[in-house]
Amino acid sequence: MDCFDAIVAGSGPGGAFAAYGLRGKRVLLLDVGYDAAASPRLSGNVYDLRRTRDDLFPELIGENFESLHNLHDRPISLKLKSPLLSFVVRDWRSLTPIVSQTFEGVISLAKGGLANAWGAGVYRFTNRDLSGFPISNDDLQSCYDELVRHIGVSGANDDLEPYFGRDEALLPPLELSPLFSDLLARYERARDEFARAGAFVGRARLAVLTQPLNGRAAYEYENLEFFQPHIPAIYTPSYTIDQLRSEGAIAYLSGRLVERFQERAGCVEVHTRNIETNEMEVWRGRKLCLAAGTLNTARIVLQSAGDYATRLPVLDNPMACIPIFSLRRIGAGLSLNDSSLAQLNCVIEDRDSGEPVQGTLYGSTGPLRSDVLFTLPLSFRSNLTLLRHVAPAGGLLMLFYPGVESPRSYLRLSPSGELEVEFAECSGNPEIEGRIIRLLRRIGYLTHPALVQRPGMGQALHYAGSLPMRDKPGPYQTHADGRLAGTAHVHIVDGACFSRLPSKNLTFTIMANAMRIGRLLARGLS
Ligand SMILES: Cc1cc2nc3c(=O)[nH]c(=O)nc-3n(C[C@H](O)[C@H](O)[C@H](O)COP(=O)(O)OP(=O)(O)OC[C@H]3O[C@@H](n4cnc5c(N)ncnc54)[C@H](O)[C@@H]3O)c2cc1C
Repeated sequence: MDCFDAIVAGSGPGGAFAAYGLRGKRVLLLDVGYDAAASPRLSGNVYDLRRTRDDLFPELIGENFESLHNLHDRPISLKLKSPLLSFVVRDWRSLTPIVSQTFEGVISLAKGGLANAWGAGVYRFTNRDLSGFPISNDDLQSCYDELVRHIGVSGANDDLEPYFGRDEALLPPLELSPLFSDLLARYERARDEFARAGAFVGRARLAVLTQPLNGRAAYEYENLEFFQPHIPAIYTPSYTIDQLRSEGAIAYLSGRLVERFQERAGCVEVHTRNIETNEMEVWRGRKLCLAAGTLNTARIVLQSAGDYATRLPVLDNPMACIPIFSLRRIGAGLSLNDSSLAQLNCVIEDRDSGEPVQGTLYGSTGPLRSDVLFTLPLSFRSNLTLLRHVAPAGGLLMLFYPGVESPRSYLRLSPSGELEVEFAECSGNPEIEGRIIRLLRRIGYLTHPALVQRPGMGQALHYAGSLPMRDKPGPYQTHADGRLAGTAHVHIVDGACFSRLPSKNLTFTIMANAMRIGRLLARGLS
């Protein structure tokens, strides 16, 4: 049987960049790999589309009313329910099921993974963020730098530089909407007061092009992020997978569900189920990189060991969502050219631990009005009128707390193949929330602790830490090169190998770490 130098399972950020690091070797990438339907692209901004198109129902709501999902079912991220983006979460419940009382997240079996719908916020981990990892920022630096050149990152070196690091290769930041350029100007005038309170505001760092790069066009402010997949300016790992395929750097096989692996002398056998024919197939590689997303990577590892007893840890960032309002902008006209991407970031230092807590500020014009309509207290008609006037004045601060280890946050495989995933409840930090609320009020942005919403665990979609890297790994832990303890050739390259989860979007570090491990393996395979 043919033996590849390396097999990579999964084509999300982890899989794409493990394969990228392995260039020059014979690499097979196995993936379930659902992709967007080949429907015509929506183009033009939402207002032009509404003027020029008779009916946007199929794209915005969906023939099966997909976009109204959250009105009658457990809520999922607003992006993942729109019809053209629903491929991102297609079939996960049947192919890789989860049973849980507490988990409110999803799994992706798409080419490019969850990052087809991501917010593209990309942040380098500092050495503080990496405490507990057996690697430091120096080990990741050259990979972060190469990523910036490959995917393009816009942003600025500003007050958030101590938390995000200095980056000389950033593209100019996105244009701010009127609401957030006002907020930034007011912050700049009150900067000293914010600093004394341990809070800082600056531009978001986004894998979004503000200038053409590597054949991709710059962002056009069409505000279609909630509805349109594969917007060229917004990076997704599919672009890298397509590039690696066209260069002949990888063989890519979709429709393959990796179920388990088995080590043999000098190689690993990977057992997949062909999801079209239901037949089992076996592939061989000298190395295996598991990048099926933390939850499915852990499932494959437990399934390979036939282990239905062990509870592995699992982390996600607990979230707090704080609506903000500017009375000055109530009734203002909406901008024709807008964006649903992150506008600004803020960092608030935890006074007890010194740990920075990171937040992202979003506008309110991206999602459908029906997504918030029924949460307002007035009649349907009055709520609609209210929303129309309040939309230009409203935004959302989304705070991510560090992931917390707890015996009540775990995953375990059941003999029937379902993954049991439970998360301990987390109530956030009222002192931090109170502090940022007071500061925002000081600069004219109204909000109140009673308005804070706490999405259920799993909704941050930042899963990590189930097979953590350790200096001296024990069972179900990994070495600094991602190698799973007790195996010779199996490497974990997604968030599962994170040693901790700081209050910072993790995907840029999943990519950098996967590239680092891919490069290390490529060197060893010569
Ligand atoms: C709405 C939204 C917003 C987000 N915003 C951000 C953000 O701004 N910044 C940020 O850092 N992160 C963000 N994220 C999270 C980010 O998308 C994930 O952290 C990232 O995609 C995880 O990458 P991964 O490679 O580990 O796994 P995934 O992206 O989950 O990819 C898993 C891959 O494995 C494949 N796969 C799974 N199981 C199997 C199997 N058994 N056999 C074969 N193939 C398999 C899938 O097809 C897929 O290709 C966001 C996510 C969402 C949904």
